This record gives sequence, structure tokens and C-alpha cells, in this order.
Amino acid sequence: MERKELFAEAVKAAEMSYSKYSGFSVGAALLTVDGLVFKGCNIENASFSLTNCAERTAVFKAVSEGYMNFSAIAIAGSSGGDFSKPCYPCGACLQVLSEFCGDDLIIILSDGEYKLSDFLPKRFCEESMK
Ligand SMILES: [Zn+2]
Repeated sequence: MERKELFAEAVKAAEMSYSKYSGFSVGAALLTVDGLVFKGCNIENASFSLTNCAERTAVFKAVSEGYMNFSAIAIAGSSGGDFSKPCYPCGACLQVLSEFCGDDLIIILSDGEYKLSDFLPKRFCEESMK
């Protein structure tokens, strides 16, 4: 799947965003190594700390369906329907992605393509506990 196609899937996922408090819609499209796409959106809550990001929604959907090997994720965010400004993943989502993905996971944003290691060069992982 091409970068632009996966980003378009992320924009589609943002349409399902439940963001009544912030008005900021985010969608994520997570590509498995098998070529499947799991989409997720941000899901807000009146108790703000319980809000879940689009990226983690996509990861949790995929893992709960038995998929744990990913090659790329596209992320799109907008407060008014314009997805041209990059929506960088938050620290919590980077940590969750790092549980299942290597440093070379491709992260596709509106301004280009990155790797997980660009945002999270060092991380807490299984090896950290040994
Ligand atoms: Zn996040």
C-alpha cells in the first residue's frame, strides 16, 4: 500500500472521531506486514484522562484480532477538516507502538515519512527490566 493511500485511510478513520470536547479529530491507519489495515480514531471522555488516541485505538484493535506485526502507521489530525498540518504521535502512543514495532516502523504524517526511532530513539522495553 502506498503512503498516500494509507494516509487517506487515516483521514477516513478521523471521520469516526469522538472528539466532542476538543473538536480535534484524529485518525490512524495501521498497516500489518500481511497488508491488512486497522483503523482507529481518538475517543474522548468527560473524564479527560480516559481519552484514548487514534493510534492506540488502532493498535488495540489489531492486537485484539491477533495481529502484532506492523510495517507502517499513518496519522491524520484536524480541527476543521484540513489535514495538511502534521499530527505527531504523543509519547503514550509511541510507547505502545514500540511494544509491537521495531525502530524501523514507518510513521506517515502529512509532512512526510518518519521512523519510530525518529520520535523515540530510546525506549523503555522488555530489555530494560533485565
Ligand atoms: Zn497518543
